[in-house]
Amino acid sequence: PTPSEPPYLRGLNEPQREAVLTTDGPVLVLAGAGTGKTAALTRRLAHILYQRKAWPSEILAVTFTNKAAREMKERVGHLVGDAVEGMPWLGTFHAIGAKMLRRHAELVGLHSNFTILDTDDQKRLLKQLIAANDLDEKRWPARQLAGLIDGWKNKGLTPKDLDAGESELYANGRGQDLYQQYQDRLRTLNACDFGDLLLHMLVILKEHAQVLEQYQQRFKYILVDEYQDTNAVQYLWLRLLAQERKNIACVGDDDQSIYSWRGARVENILKFERDFPGATVIRLEQNYRSTPHILGAASGVIANNGGRLGKMLWTELDAGEKVKVLGVWDGPEEARRVGEEIEACQRAGKSLDDIAILVRAQHQTREFEDRFISIGLPYRIIGGYRFYERAEIRDALAYLRIINQPADDLAFERIVNTPKRGLGDKAVAQIHSLARAEGVPLLTAAARLIGTDELQARARNALAAFIADIARWRDMAFSSSPSSLEEGNRPAQPGGGGAGEAGTPFADAIPHPELARIVLDESGYTAMLQADKSAESAGRLENLTELVRAMEEYESLGAFLEHVSLVMDNDALAEDAKVTIMTIHAAKGLEYDTVFLVGWEEGLFPSQRALDEGGLASLEEERRLAYVAITRARRRAVILHAANRRIYGQWNSSLPSRFVGELPREHIEEETTMTGGESLWRANWSEHSDPFADTTRGTGRGPGWQRAAGKIGGEWTSRTFTREPARVMEARASAVSLGNKGRDDI
Ligand code: ATP
Ligand code: MG
Repeated sequence: PTPSEPPYLRGLNEPQREAVLTTDGPVLVLAGAGTGKTAALTRRLAHILYQRKAWPSEILAVTFTNKAAREMKERVGHLVGDAVEGMPWLGTFHAIGAKMLRRHAELVGLHSNFTILDTDDQKRLLKQLIAANDLDEKRWPARQLAGLIDGWKNKGLTPKDLDAGESELYANGRGQDLYQQYQDRLRTLNACDFGDLLLHMLVILKEHAQVLEQYQQRFKYILVDEYQDTNAVQYLWLRLLAQERKNIACVGDDDQSIYSWRGARVENILKFERDFPGATVIRLEQNYRSTPHILGAASGVIANNGGRLGKMLWTELDAGEKVKVLGVWDGPEEARRVGEEIEACQRAGKSLDDIAILVRAQHQTREFEDRFISIGLPYRIIGGYRFYERAEIRDALAYLRIINQPADDLAFERIVNTPKRGLGDKAVAQIHSLARAEGVPLLTAAARLIGTDELQARARNALAAFIADIARWRDMAFSSSPSSLEEGNRPAQPGGGGAGEAGTPFADAIPHPELARIVLDESGYTAMLQADKSAESAGRLENLTELVRAMEEYESLGAFLEHVSLVMDNDALAEDAKVTIMTIHAAKGLEYDTVFLVGWEEGLFPSQRALDEGGLASLEEERRLAYVAITRARRRAVILHAANRRIYGQWNSSLPSRFVGELPREHIEEETTMTGGESLWRANWSEHSDPFADTTRGTGRGPGWQRAAGKIGGEWTSRTFTREPARVMEARASAVSLGNKGRDDI
């Protein structure tokens, strides 16, 4: 490096420089995590601009997320200044696709102001179509058709392109017909779904030579990050656009391909060399991100996958700390431990911005959110709503709020017609005006209104049933006095008050988690979600179960609701440092000093779905996720697994993830919070007639024992074991009597 060297070349290693400077011709950078692929791509972009090889508008640069696009723009801005202004074609495939399609919409029968449907809209449309075709939605769910159509679009297939085999996948060969009808319907609505943003553009590029030529001329350089997660339609796009000039640079890592469920095809890496003969293939081997122990741990896990392209990774960084593997008793303890560790980081002067918690599934965030609220630790959730802000949770909370406090008008409004009970806007308006006129809460007004003949019969009946439901639920919640909605101002159960204590007025009320379950069932809310066969609704049901679970930790309904209102109010200022909580999928490409990897248990990670669907492919994808997860850490990685999880109100014993067993011993340091040693736990479990006798491990010993002995084996099966709650309570009780430390919640 010479002193006169441009800023964007400073500090790069040899192969990185090559990736930056080889601007002409196809380039493929194939390298492991943290080797500076994204860094090299960013500098390449800077180089092209700095050398004036192209104007900003002549470069197509694809990132995997919008956030990554913003970051890349910012960094290039630092390197070359204003030259980066106006990079219209830097973004995700979908963002770029939408922008292009607006310019050529007429070519596929749309107007340039077309709307982009979300998945809910898409599902609703498909339902209508299925009904219009006299198909039984139960037998041929809209969700299934939506999945197929997305899949076809990801593969670049229009209805015309489908063969009989594909069409056969839905309603005895009617797949193609319904796909066509759906596309026609979208066109009439001047709308398109997400998949169309790419597929329509592909069709246009294929069928309109002059448009293709225009873009081939325009894009002097094409750059693609996270190339391993491109799907077929994206690949076809790139191939067409790069065909003329062939100045295309893609960077990727086959070990980080984690979106095959969305149609991503890791084989695109292999195809690249075939479709662009003579491509310069560059391998980066020096990792600049992580310590040797972190790299060693990640490499050890991914080594268990077959069919890898294989890569070297080394680092000059100091060995650093070993990866900590921490076994805890249950979910709450996991959250508590992570909270403590983070507070220790804070005391040591670390910024919360440098810390992340990575979960496998969205619903795992709740436990951490609750804990962090109670200890006042600021956090942000990336790529998803915070738990208590999700629509289904807000709905459920509205039911609980109005039971707790019938004058809660906002809650009333939210649920009066959710699920739909035939109350139109008109009826709701009438309730409002009566409430205003008489100065009473909406619920009271509603009760008065059904005594009159002002409402239509249908609305009146629906409203009467709704009011009777609320009265009944209130009776269940506060069983000691008769309910009357007219005197709806009866004090709510005191927040934090000792409802569980003998002698309180509400002593014989049913437990509030049970109440919540009943309310969700009887109101039809659960049924509404069950009837909706979309992928989201399964997640929503899971979230509701998690909500009920969360309630168990509070003494009363009032105490729980108070907690929630505090959570909702936790909007620390945007510029404050915060811990980040997100899924592993959302963490791709990012890095943090300290990373907590939580819930490494069979059935959670690898996910139960991956295990059930079986197949090596889904397990290997989970393992790549594990690799992505570990390699997000710069200095410190802590992996946690709990021996017990409460799922659907039931305690489940869980086994540590097989990925824990795959971590090379020399790179990890194990710790368990279960004091007392092996004999204690063996004794403890053997008292309970050994519920694990049927494990295929054949040891006849439970995971409690395994963990206490600090032994985490390699070849465990994926089963989770369910016991009756009573038995677990006993086990927990005996753990206390034996002096188990750190269990302040039992
Ligand atoms: P991933 O596979 O996770 O996307 P990556 O290969 O894209 O990783 P980068 O995020 O580009 O890796 O880089 C990882 C870290 O290493 C970043 O903090 C980056 O700034 C740093 N880095 C990259 N190249 C160099 C270099 N030559 N010298 C010093 N640090 C570097
Ligand atoms: Mg990257």
